[in-house]
Amino acid sequence: MVDATRLHADSLVWDAHSCLPLRGDVNLGVLERHRRAGVNHVSINVGMDFNPLAQVIRTLAGFRHQIAQHPEQFVLGTDLAAIEAARAASRLSIAFDLEGSMMLEDDLAMVGLYRDLGVRQMHLAYNRNNSVSAGCHDEDRGLTAFGREVVREVQARGILLDLSHSGVRASLEIVEQASRPVVFSHANAHHLTPHARNARDEQIDAVAATGGVIGITGVSLFLGDPAAGTEAMIRHIEYVADRVGWQHVGLGLDFNFLDGVDDRPAEFDARRWWPDGNGYGPGMHFATPEQLPEITAGLVARGWPADAIQGVLGENFRRVAARAWGSPTP
Ligand SMILES: [Zn+2]
Repeated sequence: MVDATRLHADSLVWDAHSCLPLRGDVNLGVLERHRRAGVNHVSINVGMDFNPLAQVIRTLAGFRHQIAQHPEQFVLGTDLAAIEAARAASRLSIAFDLEGSMMLEDDLAMVGLYRDLGVRQMHLAYNRNNSVSAGCHDEDRGLTAFGREVVREVQARGILLDLSHSGVRASLEIVEQASRPVVFSHANAHHLTPHARNARDEQIDAVAATGGVIGITGVSLFLGDPAAGTEAMIRHIEYVADRVGWQHVGLGLDFNFLDGVDDRPAEFDARRWWPDGNGYGPGMHFATPEQLPEITAGLVARGWPADAIQGVLGENFRRVAARAWGSPTP
C-alpha cells in the first residue's frame, strides 16, 4: 500500500478557497496552519457581493503588503511557475478570489484591474441575484446581457470562473458560454446533501465537460455532517469521482480564520445574504487544514491509486489553472 504520509508530503496540495477576515490588518501568519498541513497553494477570498469596494481594495492592499513583507513565508502565486517555486522553497503560495461581481461596479475594465492585483478566481454572484448573474438563494434566472460580457471578459483576462454560490440556470449558462474550464471552488454534491449551495448532478456534469473541477468543501452544512468530519468529505469526493471521474475533483476547504474579528460592513443584513431556513448560523463547523492529511490517508485506505489521490489534492486544480490563467487576450 502507498505510504499516505509520504504521498501527502510529496504531492502538490491546492486549497481552492479559504477565508480570512476581510481586513487588510489581520495577520496572514495564521495561514501557517495551511503550510504545516502540507498546503502549497491557497486561494484567499478578498470580497463578497456585500463588501463595499473600499473594503475589497483595502483588504487586497493589506494582504499584498504582508506577502511582500514576508518573502520567507509567502509567495504571491499568480502563475504556475511561482507556485512551483514556492513549493520548492516550502513557502505558502497565495492568490486571491472574489465571491461575486458587485465589486466590478458594472464596469468591465475592473476585471483586468483585479487580475493585475492578483485575483485568479471569481464567481459572478454571492447567494443573491445581481446585475451580472444569479445566486443560489434567489429567483433562479439566467445571466443578464451585461453578465454575458462579464463572462467573456473574465475568461479573456485569465481569471478562473467559479460557480460556487451561483443559481442553477445562471451556472449552466456560464458553462455554455465558457471557452476555458470552469469550476466550483467550494461546493459539495447536492445528491448527497440537498442544500442550495451544493452542485446538482447536471452542474457537476457540465463543469466536468469543460475540463473543470468540483472543489469539495469542509462546511458542515454542505457536508451533511454537523462535525464537518473527514469521512463526510471523502463521501462527497467519492460521489463526484464515481460520477465524472477523479480528474474532476479537488478541494476548497472554506476554512474560516474568523477568530471573532468583526469584518462586516456597516448596515450589514445577514438575513439577506444567508436567508432563514437554509441552516446558516452559529452551529456551523468547518473542516480544518489538519484534516487534509486525513483525507489522503482515507483515500489510500480505500485503495485509491496515487495518481488519483494527487489529482484530488492539487494536480486537477493545477491543470485547470494552466488553461484558465494562461495568456490573457488583449
Ligand atoms: Zn463561499
